[in-house]
Amino acid sequence: MSVRHLIVVLGDQLDPAHALIAQADPDRDRVWMAEVAEEATHVWSHKARTALFLSAMRHFHAALTLESDYLRLGEHAFESLGAALGDALSNHAPARVLVLQPGDDRVQQQLQAACDAADVPLTVHADPHFLCKLDDFRAWAEGRKLFRMEDFYRWMRKRTRILMDDDGQPVGGQWNFDADNRKAFGKDGPGGLPEPLQFEPDATTHEVFDVVEQHFADHPGTLKQFAWPVTPEQAQAVLDDFIANRLPNFGRYQDAMWAGEHALYHSLLSAAMNLKLIDPQTVIDAAVAAYEAGDAPIEAVEGFVRQILGWREYVRGLYFLRMPDFADENALAADEDLPELYWTGDTHMACMADAIGQTLKHGYAHHIQRLMVTGLFALLLGVKPKQVHEWYLAVYVDAVEWVELPNTLGMSQYADGGVLGSKPYVASGKYIQRMSNYCSGCRYDPGDATTDNACPFTTLYWDFLARHADKLGDNQRMRFQFKNLDRKTAGEKAAITRRANWVREALPEGAV
Ligand code: FAD
Ligand code: SF4
Repeated sequence: MSVRHLIVVLGDQLDPAHALIAQADPDRDRVWMAEVAEEATHVWSHKARTALFLSAMRHFHAALTLESDYLRLGEHAFESLGAALGDALSNHAPARVLVLQPGDDRVQQQLQAACDAADVPLTVHADPHFLCKLDDFRAWAEGRKLFRMEDFYRWMRKRTRILMDDDGQPVGGQWNFDADNRKAFGKDGPGGLPEPLQFEPDATTHEVFDVVEQHFADHPGTLKQFAWPVTPEQAQAVLDDFIANRLPNFGRYQDAMWAGEHALYHSLLSAAMNLKLIDPQTVIDAAVAAYEAGDAPIEAVEGFVRQILGWREYVRGLYFLRMPDFADENALAADEDLPELYWTGDTHMACMADAIGQTLKHGYAHHIQRLMVTGLFALLLGVKPKQVHEWYLAVYVDAVEWVELPNTLGMSQYADGGVLGSKPYVASGKYIQRMSNYCSGCRYDPGDATTDNACPFTTLYWDFLARHADKLGDNQRMRFQFKNLDRKTAGEKAAITRRANWVREALPEGAV
């Protein structure tokens, strides 16, 4: 048949009601999907991340009724999506290629180049899976000096009427319940936590495990604990489980950490939403319905809605507004290499060992582990933001560039110089001590910056402030931090620098 539209479906566009397929003409249009090695190797991807994408893609394809091409890894010789698509264009000679907005600039450029080379027009359609259209985000951002998430979030609440009362006021009388949220567990710990829902890998997922072990045997991580949802039905089950068992405590313990506990009260829904196995609107509706039924308090529900309606949509808008330059930003001129321990978890720092260890095990860490443990350490040490970005893109099952890059370069590393956050998220080991039990099992002391027992976070925190006093010293939101630095004597400052130099020298030897 001569093909009218070749519909490209990418590995993170697996909505069973895919907008372009829903409108396709079965007699003239065809779906095209491909598994290519480059998607697992352009960053050194965690085995679970690759397995999740491949398994979800194969499940999606198995349910397709439209004519399709599906290229399996190991059954073709194309290294990249662009090369594979080029071949499909010469086989089918379609009148046009259609795709929903790719979530990765690199992929969009490859598709465009393949279409240009074959002289076939490519139409990129808006992805209806998001609550804020990119044009609307651009209009919101237009003329603003500051793109603050809080302003965006309130604007989104008003226009979507989510958690708004009939008088146009926020439900519960406040936009933000941070004061009631973000508690630590206390010394007795979290007690009996609800077990997250696990899915036994089916035959398709096992098939994919073999492919991953065959092609990417030396990649980081393991498949032994793989239990991620790979179908829309499983994603819905994760949502139901979260709403019933964890949402009521979500806000209160949103920022808490506890050794050996990766899920706590988090939803574990990011990967399912990012692969479009479940719609963010469905997730938000379920949380709001739990509040309306009296099953979850407003502070938990608002805190959860804020993450999805606010942060998730906001970082996406920023990604498309600021790419491609965003990827190269390095406002603090950070120039250290990413320490090897990020790939092994092999360190005496108990917090880093736990956060990285569970990342290698599950391909998951919750937000505060990403921001205030692994991200904070890289920021304080002064690691090149691009290397930090490539690590985060590689090791998390939910990592797609539109969401990972702004979080890493903007929120976590301050590489954008303050577009996403008004100040860098910097703290000493004392913050980690307050929010977790890590320090009680650590060889270091979070209150010490200078001796052999000094916590590397605490040493590097003061060292960071001293190194960046010129750039950040005038930041009003950091004035207490700099005031405390000023209180230190010249001798204390010199001891901090000496200890920070030791950390830098000892890291490559695996001695920290
Ligand atoms: P929950 O804590 O249950 O939160 C609910 C949902 O809110 C999440 O599923 C997610 O969709 C959304 N959300 C929460 N915080 C954010 C945020 N800051 N930005 C965007 N969405 C958010 N999230 C990704 O989905 N992919 C990434 O690659 C990614 N990389 C990150 C890198 C860094 C350095 C940091 C600091 C954060 C990153 N995040 C990323 C955001 C956040 O950490 C994860 O979305 C969250 O930990 C996923 O776990 P969860 O589904 O249990 O989330
Ligand atoms: Fe982490 Fe420092 Fe606490 Fe050790 S003492 S767990 S390195 S914050």
